[in-house]
Amino acid sequence: MSRTPRTALTIAGSDSGGGAGIQADLRTFFACGVHGMTAITAVTVQNSVGVHGFTEIPTDVVAAQIEAVTGDMGADAAKTGMLATAEIITTVASAVDKAGIGKRHDVPLVVDPVAASMHGDPLLREEALEAIRTELFPRATLVTPNLDEVRLLTGLSVTDVTEQRKAADALLELGPRWVLVKGGHMTDSPECVDLLSDGTHVVELTCPRHDTPHTHGGGDTLASAITAHLAKGFDMPDAVAAGKKFIERCVIESYPLGEGVGPVSPFW
Ligand code: PLP
Repeated sequence: MSRTPRTALTIAGSDSGGGAGIQADLRTFFACGVHGMTAITAVTVQNSVGVHGFTEIPTDVVAAQIEAVTGDMGADAAKTGMLATAEIITTVASAVDKAGIGKRHDVPLVVDPVAASMHGDPLLREEALEAIRTELFPRATLVTPNLDEVRLLTGLSVTDVTEQRKAADALLELGPRWVLVKGGHMTDSPECVDLLSDGTHVVELTCPRHDTPHTHGGGDTLASAITAHLAKGFDMPDAVAAGKKFIERCVIESYPLGEGVGPVSPFW
């Protein structure tokens, strides 16, 4: 191939089990046809049963990874996932500013405010939540919280679409250009409704709920599929719609692996 592909950068943690984090992001970037680059923030010790611990990467190394790849190859879009500590969040905020990434620049930044694994294992130190609100949200082109993250960030408990709209408005007050409030955790509903809003345009994206326990890495995969489509030049509503189609297919193709929760899969 002599044509240079579009590029996407993920700033996130490693999952030794290969289901979520950096590994899911790279797999998704590849499946969506963009060149993936990484700035690793933390290394988790993890398998299908849960996260057994993690070590954060020193902040100067996180910043150096972002600088090295954006200064040389350039990024057409970027996303953040697991950031672990307030110090890493502050470092990432200033590194993306320097690289010209984020809401105030031409390169979109998707912020997935990862706080815990689906097993409830923490992936963010408690005191770092405030840094997500104040340092990252104002720089984000899109934020993609699930309902647990919405509650942590806004104090709102969401149980239906009306409340999803209120949560979207509360999150927009924190400064991102677009918000995607993911409704996948409303397990009573036969459908997964995600609400995309920039305060003016409000879009409900609906798909049937697929009955599988194997959804490890689902949030990362959706956020990185959206990032890949933004890198390819899609506008936000089209990138989110394409990301949603992608994750739906990944959930259908998910597979059991290990004793616990298997990963969503981009193999088809
Ligand atoms: N490990 C890492 C490094 C992650 O970034 C994430 C999610 O963002 C997880 C684990 C948790 O994934 P899940 O909640 O799908 O199990």
